[in-house]
Amino acid sequence: MQKSTRTTAPQIKSSVRSRTNPTRVGTRKTRDEIEAIRANHPIEQVIGRYVELRPSGRRLMGQCPFHDDPTPSFVVYVHNQSWYCFGCDVGGDVFKFIERIEKVSFAQALQRLSSNALAARPVSRVPTTQAKPIAPIELSDEHFTLLTAATEVYHAAIFAQPRVLEYLAERRIDLDMIRRHRIGYATGNDLAKYFRFRGWDPEIASDLGLIGPRGEYFRERIVIPELRDGRAIYLVGRATQEYQRAKYLGLPGAPKPLYGLEMIRGSSDVFICEGPLDWLTLVKWGYHAVALLGSHLKRDQISAMSDAERIFIVTDSDEPGRKSARRLAETFGERARIVPPLPNAKDVNELAMRLDGHSIFAGLVQPVAQANL
Ligand SMILES: [Zn+2]
Repeated sequence: MQKSTRTTAPQIKSSVRSRTNPTRVGTRKTRDEIEAIRANHPIEQVIGRYVELRPSGRRLMGQCPFHDDPTPSFVVYVHNQSWYCFGCDVGGDVFKFIERIEKVSFAQALQRLSSNALAARPVSRVPTTQAKPIAPIELSDEHFTLLTAATEVYHAAIFAQPRVLEYLAERRIDLDMIRRHRIGYATGNDLAKYFRFRGWDPEIASDLGLIGPRGEYFRERIVIPELRDGRAIYLVGRATQEYQRAKYLGLPGAPKPLYGLEMIRGSSDVFICEGPLDWLTLVKWGYHAVALLGSHLKRDQISAMSDAERIFIVTDSDEPGRKSARRLAETFGERARIVPPLPNAKDVNELAMRLDGHSIFAGLVQPVAQANL
């Protein structure tokens, strides 16, 4: 079964066309009356009474009301007024949805819609306009101003979060590091207020993906900015709660940079790692390090490291981590030095939780550095 990999809904037959004969004016409603009911009941609003829908690109998504769906796999297509569940493999138009959810006939579904007699109460305010898909854009000075301000708002907020500070301290990211790297915390409620107070155009924040139709993008996350010349050019949010599915979220509206690039200029030994917390750990230990943020290296990023004589590759200890180490080693050829798997630690940041973490790491690096010279 390839249900889950499908990205577009299959052709959905209209329940009107399949059940009523447009030429027959029966005892019930005519085709024109049916179409008028359809036109007066936008699918996103009707389904929005039963399902909490969120914009996802050009579609709306939610948890399927017909099966146990943590994914979520229920999609509403506003442009053709249809819905489809990738878990149940069912879909249809607005009438088909009412038939299924209210367990009524087609005629009764029409009746309920036209008389506005639906059982469900609205679960949320559903965006009536389609969400604009967010794609990385070339940033202007205005964007940098907003991003830098957002960084400072998040940074100020972290000092009111003792649990977050404690979490970071356990990982040897102390107050000095937090201040120097403008690490912050997004509550999810601070940014919009501040931007309004400054009188900034909300379009700019939405271009960046910082604030969308459903509120602020980063919520209950540790926010790590990438700073260049004192300005923030990108943000990554790390989850702090169990329920947050994505461990890291990158800013959707800005191009993903190589973290720390400014700090490795002219260094002969460069360390390359994957996550922002690993990166902070390496920087804390005094290494010239960059972080990939899980993406492939772009050509200009590779050439930005052309000064480096040796590139030490530090990835997670698990199999995917080793695999990406080998891939990176291929990219850098004979300059590459793969640091061996960390003993009893998933990643560098976890190793840093041990008091002897740094010396263990230095012990792993030394023989690799001496090899092939
Ligand atoms: Zn379903």
